[in-house]
Amino acid sequence: MFSLKMLPLLLLFCMQLSRAFPVPSESTEEKNIEVVQNYLEKFYQLPRNRYQSERKKSTSAIVEKLKEMQQFFGLKVTGKPDKETLEMMEKPRCGVPDGGDFMLTPGHPKWEQTNLTYRITDYTSQLPKADVETLIEEAFKVWSRVSPLTFTKLTEGEADITIAFVQGDHGDNSPFDGPNGILAHAFQPGPGIGGDAHFDAEETWTTTSENYHLFPVAAHEFGHSLGLSHSSDPGALMYPTYAYSDPKTFLLPQDDINGIQALYGPSSNPVQPTGPTTPTACDPRLTFDAITTLRGEILFFKDKFFWRKHPQLQNVELNFISLFWPSLPNGIQAAYEDFDKDLIFLFKGNQYWALNGYNIQQGYPKNISNYGFPSSVQAIDAAVFYRTKTYFFVNNQFWSYDNEKQSMEPGYPKSIESTFAGIGNRVDAVFQKDHFFLFFSETRYYKFDLNTQSITQIDRSNKWLNCR
Ligand SMILES: [Zn+2]
Ligand SMILES: [Zn+2]
Repeated sequence: MFSLKMLPLLLLFCMQLSRAFPVPSESTEEKNIEVVQNYLEKFYQLPRNRYQSERKKSTSAIVEKLKEMQQFFGLKVTGKPDKETLEMMEKPRCGVPDGGDFMLTPGHPKWEQTNLTYRITDYTSQLPKADVETLIEEAFKVWSRVSPLTFTKLTEGEADITIAFVQGDHGDNSPFDGPNGILAHAFQPGPGIGGDAHFDAEETWTTTSENYHLFPVAAHEFGHSLGLSHSSDPGALMYPTYAYSDPKTFLLPQDDINGIQALYGPSSNPVQPTGPTTPTACDPRLTFDAITTLRGEILFFKDKFFWRKHPQLQNVELNFISLFWPSLPNGIQAAYEDFDKDLIFLFKGNQYWALNGYNIQQGYPKNISNYGFPSSVQAIDAAVFYRTKTYFFVNNQFWSYDNEKQSMEPGYPKSIESTFAGIGNRVDAVFQKDHFFLFFSETRYYKFDLNTQSITQIDRSNKWLNCR
């Protein structure tokens, strides 16, 4: 499974990649340059140079392409292969290049007709044929729901979109690379190979939250088959890296709806479909659903995303909740870290989950009545842990749970105003840092000093996401 725990694994993977190059006593820096160069050649049209001497000469070209890549992914544009850039390069992704025109012809070709045909010519042995067919059909529906396009399956003859599971060099000048790395690619609309979608037969294909679910990959590739390029919106289906999504709950993001409708016009449905938009860190209207620390990092939850702020990294990383915890729901409402047990607890409605690092503990979700809440409390706004107590905020009140006695403390709930004067009547999120509680309410945060029992700072919430 793809998780934060992969960090050391990624480095290991990095080393394994570099080992393929038969140069002894290479420094880490030189190994990284190989990784970077390969990535930029594949996805950013960096010209391929055969000899080491030519490679040296093209350093400025590498820096330029690296900056282009960093820009695309919203990383800090340094032109250097820093840790965040290398991490991004190791993520499983689509084989179609990110910048410029892709795979086939320049311009933005589209299909002239809206009634398209597809045919699956080569299946994977890892999934039953019927499952592949169902998921492919679901993946086409993603696009037909929001556009005038229709897709009809053929079992023989020449279809507009030919779908095949193939491996290695498969005759289109874009060889697959075995497990992980490139998962699939597809060609722009056009005759012959145009519109065709190829899936790397050496990947582990699944119908579960384990890597790699065929549905999100297929839906993404069909976007290319219809003429879309990669989007730099990290929430978009057309973002180049893999993200798990469940076909039952998937909603096509607005960015992709805009893309397909720009090519083919609106849906024939009288009610135009809309989709979720990706939250932007520096949007002045940004509010948070929940915030917690996790072993020195801070996680800010919003809809189906969370930002991860690492004290040693300059960039704040936006991730899908599903990428790290496929079985968790979106829209987490409260979260806290129990430093004594080394667990974080996440809340939604009357359910909660315990996580050790990034692993969900057995036996969860549980019901919040375990904490001793009356049945009138069906959701928690915010939670924070401090010195063996957990404080829960519900509307204009808060509760104190004694983790040692494992019961609610008597005398609660109390009004928020009685103890935390000045932070308002409702808390969206809270976390603890040193002897402060950081309360978030709408677009502001309040730094509350627990020693002096007073607010020492009020400012815009998204300053925490490095926004000015
Ligand atoms: Zn792609
Ligand atoms: Zn191919």
